[in-house]
Amino acid sequence: MAIRAIRGATTAAANTKEEIFASTQEMFLQIINDNNIAVDDIAGIIFTVTPDLTAAFPAAAVRRMSISDIPLLDMAAPDIDNALPMCIRVMVYINTDKGNSELVHAYLRGASVLRPDIGRRGKISVAIDGPAGAGKSSVAKRAAARLGYIYIDTGAMYRTVGVYGIENGIDPVNERGRLVSELDNIHIDISYENGVQRMYLNGADVTERIRENDASMAASAVAAIPEVRERLVNMQRGMAKKGGVIMDGRDIGTTVLPDAELKIYLTASVENRAVRRYREYLENGVECDFNEIKEDVITRDYNDMHRAVSPLRQAEDAVLVDTSDMDFEQSAETVIDMIRKAEVNG
Ligand code: C5P
Repeated sequence: MAIRAIRGATTAAANTKEEIFASTQEMFLQIINDNNIAVDDIAGIIFTVTPDLTAAFPAAAVRRMSISDIPLLDMAAPDIDNALPMCIRVMVYINTDKGNSELVHAYLRGASVLRPDIGRRGKISVAIDGPAGAGKSSVAKRAAARLGYIYIDTGAMYRTVGVYGIENGIDPVNERGRLVSELDNIHIDISYENGVQRMYLNGADVTERIRENDASMAASAVAAIPEVRERLVNMQRGMAKKGGVIMDGRDIGTTVLPDAELKIYLTASVENRAVRRYREYLENGVECDFNEIKEDVITRDYNDMHRAVSPLRQAEDAVLVDTSDMDFEQSAETVIDMIRKAEVNG
């Protein structure tokens, strides 16, 4: 653990207590959320205000948020010609295991002009597509945790429908009609517990079950059925309505969120992807055969890229990221960096 400092700056719309409190609380919450800070880890907070803000102390805005035993201090910023008016700056000192480069600073409400390199305009929608095993979900999960986004794993939804087919003895390739006629009986619920997306099929928790190999193949088969896709795509659009989501899948950039501010096509060689899946299974204690997994990766690529509805392909405006020569940390940092830049550029 070390003490590190996170910076922030924002502006107040007017020199009133309400506006100063609103801007200060928004900035403080963003710093807390983006850095996953527990209140107990805060060592102290220093604010500065430009001389044109006289209606309230920013520290009082934070005190209001039930922050009672952390030292807070307000100071006057120097009166400099052409400085950004009505500006509130903050330095939040925290105890953390993170390195300086992992901290997320907040520059809001026009204060991004002070640091255009790290200023954030606000959260965006991010679409990450790519073939099986490219690392989409781990990278998306890490980016969402770091930047305070909601991560939506759409593959888990197709997997859940696939598991319904398996459990009810429906062959999704030869008995499409039967599966479609039962769609109204398939109730999928999603909840987020400690950042983990849990999947429920008709009330039963199938979070672990859907990761088994037969569920992968069943998912790929049900995903070729237009009625299944239509239903799940509608659910996914509803979940992304408010923005601030990182959604991964096969057709997010092309079909689900065609207006996403950032689209990434994450891929890696077949060999690399098979090795990663193999390791993942071993780590989770699932017995498996490498060649079988490689064959599955090839079959799923083929199915996903050649199906008639929403085949997997790179959207025209998606950025290609090939992670064959990157480890997980490098892939995650690359994507986080892209999201931060897209937030600034809108
Ligand atoms: O990403 P994951 O491997 O969990 O996805 C399982 C399967 O679900 C994929 O192989 C693909 O066929 C299907 N899928 C899809 N569209 C999505 C997400 C997943 O067709 N948006």
